Amino acid sequence: MTRSRFTLLALIVASALFTTACETVSTTQSGAVGIDRKQIMSPLVSSQQLEQQAALTYTNLVGQEAKQGDLNPDPAQTARVRRIADRLIPQTTVFRPDASKWNWQVNVFRSPEVNAWCMPGGKIAIYTGILDKLKLTDDEIAAVMGHEIAHALREHAREQASEQSLAQLGLLGASLAGAGQNIVNAGGQLYQLGIGLPHSRRQETEADRMGVELAARAGYDPRAAIAVWQKMIRLGGNRPPEFLSTHPNPESRMQDLQQYAEKVMPLYLQAKKR
Ligand SMILES: [Zn+2]
Repeated sequence: MTRSRFTLLALIVASALFTTACETVSTTQSGAVGIDRKQIMSPLVSSQQLEQQAALTYTNLVGQEAKQGDLNPDPAQTARVRRIADRLIPQTTVFRPDASKWNWQVNVFRSPEVNAWCMPGGKIAIYTGILDKLKLTDDEIAAVMGHEIAHALREHAREQASEQSLAQLGLLGASLAGAGQNIVNAGGQLYQLGIGLPHSRRQETEADRMGVELAARAGYDPRAAIAVWQKMIRLGGNRPPEFLSTHPNPESRMQDLQQYAEKVMPLYLQAKKR
């Protein structure tokens, strides 16, 4: 089959899938913080696809870091970060029971960047830049990690990829040649995995709220989230896309965190008793 015919066929298949199978889903249960926004997912982007791609990308990144001598540079630091992750991860089942079957991985990357992320399927990286420059306490590490884990639980990367592929398929009628190119682009953008692009404001808000609940349930002070963002604002300078960039008004974010941290305080106090 010639390439253009293949493109045309792919286009027809994709548009058929697109019109019949575009679905509205709830990726998570709402939890105490009450996250119940329905998400529109494109049939072109499956959870399984993204998880497989994330696993591959993560393995490659970890390999690269190891080669450069930048993987888990301080064993005590790695142990500390993993101890916190080990308390947070079991709490994820409150939002989605299937997360207990994810192949969670947690590593520290040596990098001056103030960054942390969790790829689809539970592949976590915390950079030494955020640990050192913000001098994070355990509660604050839990806040950052809880926020990142929430992005993965909510499948925000899949949602972003869906939005992109839907927007591009929307141009479908324009011209076959052009639309063919759009499909290719949509495919190419599936794998940004939520770590290269800034999340939307509403995704950030969800991750903030779900993050404080995960931290509280794991026995970490949920109010630490506020301290983290205050430290980050004080640090200023180059903010990576994951942090603050989609929040033109840090004040309202802080207020939201305050409100939701208070809401989950009983969960924190309960967890501390155990
Ligand atoms: Zn975020």
